[in-house]
This record gives sequence, C-alpha cells and structure tokens, in this order.
Amino acid sequence: MTLKTGDEYKDSVKSLKLEAHVMGKKSDNLPENPLVNPSMKAVAATFDGAHSDNEEIRGLFRTRSSVCEAEVNRFAHLHQSTEDLVKKVLMQRYCGNLTGCCFQRCVGLDAANAVFSTTYDVDQEYGTHYHQRFRDYWCKIQVDDLVVDGAMTDPKGDRSKRPGEQADPDLYLRVVEKKNDGVVVRGAKLHQTGMLNSHEIIVMPTLNMRPGEEDWTICFGVPTNARGIRYIYGRQASDTRKLEELKLDVGNPIYGGQEVMTVFDDVFVPKERIFLNGEVKYSGKLVERFAAYHRQSYGGCKAGVGDVLIGAVALIARMHGIDRASHVRDKIVEMIHLNETLFSCGIACSSMGYRTPAGNYEVDMLLANVCKLNVTRFPYEIARLATDVAGGLLGTLPSAKDLEDPVTAPYIKKYLATTEGVEVVDRFKVLRLIENLVAGAGSVAYLIESMHGAGSPMAQRIMISRQADLDGKIQKVKQLLNIN
Ligand code: SF4
Ligand code: FE
Repeated sequence: MTLKTGDEYKDSVKSLKLEAHVMGKKSDNLPENPLVNPSMKAVAATFDGAHSDNEEIRGLFRTRSSVCEAEVNRFAHLHQSTEDLVKKVLMQRYCGNLTGCCFQRCVGLDAANAVFSTTYDVDQEYGTHYHQRFRDYWCKIQVDDLVVDGAMTDPKGDRSKRPGEQADPDLYLRVVEKKNDGVVVRGAKLHQTGMLNSHEIIVMPTLNMRPGEEDWTICFGVPTNARGIRYIYGRQASDTRKLEELKLDVGNPIYGGQEVMTVFDDVFVPKERIFLNGEVKYSGKLVERFAAYHRQSYGGCKAGVGDVLIGAVALIARMHGIDRASHVRDKIVEMIHLNETLFSCGIACSSMGYRTPAGNYEVDMLLANVCKLNVTRFPYEIARLATDVAGGLLGTLPSAKDLEDPVTAPYIKKYLATTEGVEVVDRFKVLRLIENLVAGAGSVAYLIESMHGAGSPMAQRIMISRQADLDGKIQKVKQLLNIN
C-alpha cells in the first residue's frame, strides 16, 4: 500500500460506516455531516502533506518504517532519532499553519511511541510477549496508512476515590470478563480528539495503577467500528454556525476540530490486540511517556495555530490602519515572542531526546513538561492580546446574513468601512477567524485543550518537580560555598 492521499483517506473512513449521536440525533453519514466534515478535512491535510509538490514538505511527512519494509507517513512513525522528534514538531507546526485548528492525528502517534517502549520493558521484566504483538499491530497500521486515536482519559467519577472505590467501577475502563482468546472491556474515554476520523483506537490506562487494580490496567488496540463501541459527539462554542447556509460566520471556512465521548459497552478484545494486562507497575510509565510525547506535540501544533492567529491580528491591524502604532507593534512582538517560546520548548525537548531500550526515541521529560506548562498559559495571553488589538467588533459584528440583506447591507458597508481598499466582507472574514480562535469553535483546541489536553497544569508541575533534581542543585550550591 502506498501512502494515502487526503481523498483516499476520506474514502477509507467512509467505508467504516461509523455511527455517532450528534446533537441528539443518530448520524450514520458522518463524513457528510456539516458538524463533522470540517474535522475530517483537517485530518485529510495530514495525508496530503505526504504528496505535497514541495519536496521539503514531502520530506517532513515521509520517512522509512523501523518495524517493516515501507515508506510511511510520519504521523505513524516510531521515532528513530532526535532529528525524527524535531521533524515531528516541524510537521505539526506546518499542519497548524495550514488548517488553523487541531488536525487530530498526533494522539495515536504519541500513544504508539509510548506503547512501543513500554511493552518492551514489560516483556523484559515479566517474560510476556506484548512487544512483538505491538510491532505486528503497528506494522499493519503503517503499511495501511491508518489514523489511530489514542484513548487515555477515563471519566474518573469521584476524584478522591481510586477506581475500585467508585460507586460505579466502570468510571475507569476495566476488564469485566476474561476469556481464553481475549478479554471483554467496559468503560468510557472522554475528550477523544478525532475519534470518528480514525480507523483504530489504542486504549491506555488513565493513571498509575496500584496492586489490586489489575482489572483497570489494560492497554489494547481495536478498530473504531468494533462491536459495542458508541460515540457521542462533543459540542463546541458556536458549532451550529456550521449548519447555517452562509459560512462567513464560522470563522475557519474549511477546517475544524473534533472531540468525542467514547463508550465501550462490553467490547471484546482479542488476545493478539492486548498490549498490557494487569502489570500495574508499568501503567504509570505508559501514562508518563504518552503524556510527554503529547506535551511535546503541543509545542508544534499550538505554535502553528498561533502563527495563524498572529497573522490575522497583524492583518486586521493593517486593515484598521493601526499597524504602525507603537503599542500595536509591541503587542504583536509580544505574541510572537510567546508563540516562539512554545515552539522552542517543543524543539528543545526533541533535541534533548534519548534512545529507549526498545530502540525508539523518547523526548526529554523535564523539557516536555515545561513545554506543556507554557502551553497552559501563553495561548491565553496571545488570545488576550489578539482580542485587545482586534477591537470590540470581535464581539458585536452583525451576522453574515445582515451583510447580504438589502436593507441592512448598505448601512453595514457604510459604517463598517475602514481603510481605503479594504472590502467590508474581508474585514468580517478576518474578525471571524480571530473570534473562532479566541472564543469560538477553534478555542476548544487553542485554549481549553491547551489547558487540559495531555494533562492539566498540576500534572506538569508534579512531573517538573520530580524531574528537576533539586538535590543536585542544592549540592552545587554547597560545593560553591564549601558547605559540608
Ligand atoms: Fe495534534 Fe495538537 Fe490536535 Fe493534539 S491538539 S491532536 S497535538 S493538533
Ligand atoms: Fe490533545
């Protein structure tokens, strides 16, 4: 199988005939559903990148597999060097630039790299055979050029209680039946980015499990159309604008993100698709590794979307004739500084990555967590500055319909005229794109996910405190001051 184009990818997902509940209705034609379709286009962009006319871009997306003889899309690659890790971030920034939204395909990539190294470690300790199983599984994913969703976050119910103490033990996904040829699982995974645009799901435990919590320590891969899986589509701010006849008010005219609540209602998982089953000691390692890769990812994708927001702000400032004002220039410089800091962190944790015993490359954990902690703050500050520079119209602009209404249009065109040569409709377009990212559907990924995706800020602070070697720093001071 050669690398799929975006159109081939779309056809392949259509053939899965996935069903989901979208705003109270069962939808069985998801790719054509206007709420879903833009998100599928964003994923398709990750396939078209491998067929770009630009050789440099193609080179970012194409690489050689380490587990089978094939040229593969980097979104399915097991990183073989720090250069691979850097290229991943560059590719994500490129995709963010192109789509201006979440392109969804990174989660499976990050899950695969974490499962690859963890299964190796588990086998070394327990003599299990998970690693070869995973290699076989992933080889097929690479050769068929599939999209995989990484599913980690359980609902967690009462946060003060462990999985087995919950009133409903299904609040953490668990094994409910063991069979000779596999297991049956029940539970749910929340916030599933791009789930309905995926062919496969890798399910992982959500936290560091303890002895006695073996049933909740399960990692496996299943097709998205496996029997017993149900999908409930997540709402996004202003999402129903996508249902309107005129598209101007949507903000991002082509692309969008997707988040899905995924329910596993007694799903059978065959043995050959199980990659961890009860080895509690390794659940925390798997979570930590996946989280670190995904925290690296944000250094690429959020910087890519940040570029779009900064570009939109610079353009609206020019349209409004304020681009030469020193305070506006300074605000834009501040936005660039914050955005490039995110990117620098993504590049830094990649460059400082290391080879795992399994052979793939892991990012520097401390720097990946610093990266993500910055991501929980800087896009908010960039969005604040964008709102400042764009002006109050961001919240009060009339609708696209009013711009077409013969009664209101002349007034809108007269009173929303700005610098010479700027069409009012173009002013609308730019303001709506900014609105999309700071307060509309795009803010789900650019702001809320920046806060909570790949773990909330506290999770990064815990990792930073663990990784920072504070005793080592104290020792350096003692040495400098000659203190015993
Ligand atoms: Fe990829 Fe970013 Fe979307 Fe996560 S938020 S899936 S890293 S584009
Ligand atoms: Fe995410």
